Amino acid sequence: MNTISKIFFVLFLILLVQENPYYNKFKRPSTYGITQYVEKFQDIIIKEYTDNVDSLFHIDVFTENLSLYGGKNDLGAFFPGDNIIILTNKEKYIEYEFKNLTKSKQRLITYRDRTVKAVLFHELTHAYFYQTVAQMKMSGLYVSSEYSFLNLFPQLDLRLGAEFIEEGICEYVVYYLKESSPLVNPFIPKTVKDVVDSSNEIYVKYHYSVYFLTDFLDKYGIKKGIEILVSNKPPSYEEMVNPKLFFERLIYPS
Ligand SMILES: [Zn+2]
Repeated sequence: MNTISKIFFVLFLILLVQENPYYNKFKRPSTYGITQYVEKFQDIIIKEYTDNVDSLFHIDVFTENLSLYGGKNDLGAFFPGDNIIILTNKEKYIEYEFKNLTKSKQRLITYRDRTVKAVLFHELTHAYFYQTVAQMKMSGLYVSSEYSFLNLFPQLDLRLGAEFIEEGICEYVVYYLKESSPLVNPFIPKTVKDVVDSSNEIYVKYHYSVYFLTDFLDKYGIKKGIEILVSNKPPSYEEMVNPKLFFERLIYPS
């Protein structure tokens, strides 16, 4: 190729990259692309979820700029009354799907790097968690009050404990459905101080929680696991630091 041809070839490549409306200049999903992807693929993704986890009531998924609704860093949200999931359309995702990443990128990503599909799996699990608790209550099964959506949280530690369990299950499903690389080097709080330190909040709720629950959920499965967990009081700060204390006091419903 002569120099002129080379220049044209490079220009052509640049144009090609710029003209793919699904990606922004950082090669990340664009706002336009996120909306298109969610519209086109939500049914397929929900089917993948129900095929591999369990059946789920009808859910509609939309995109919005979630930072306009107070959740500055939120990627997704589930609204139980309306059976709606909203994923943010801000350009914060690393890819649409984990399988689109190169093997080396797959190895490098952490729990903070989320694909659009991973966030949808996470939010679908909030819906599934809600559905499981609602079904238990309708069948007359006991659900501990911290998980009853009444927002009556007598104790701060149990409030964090309930969020810790629910978020941990949602993240566990992201790994279970292989929409993230395996959890490595999890943050492990050593003291109650580490648990309550607000600078650790994200690590505790979205990272350590998965480590805390993995053996238990691997053993009992997602549905049974939720049923056992919500029929017991959530872990206290002390029990979050010492998982053995928590799992040994669980009562297993028959
Ligand atoms: Zn969540």
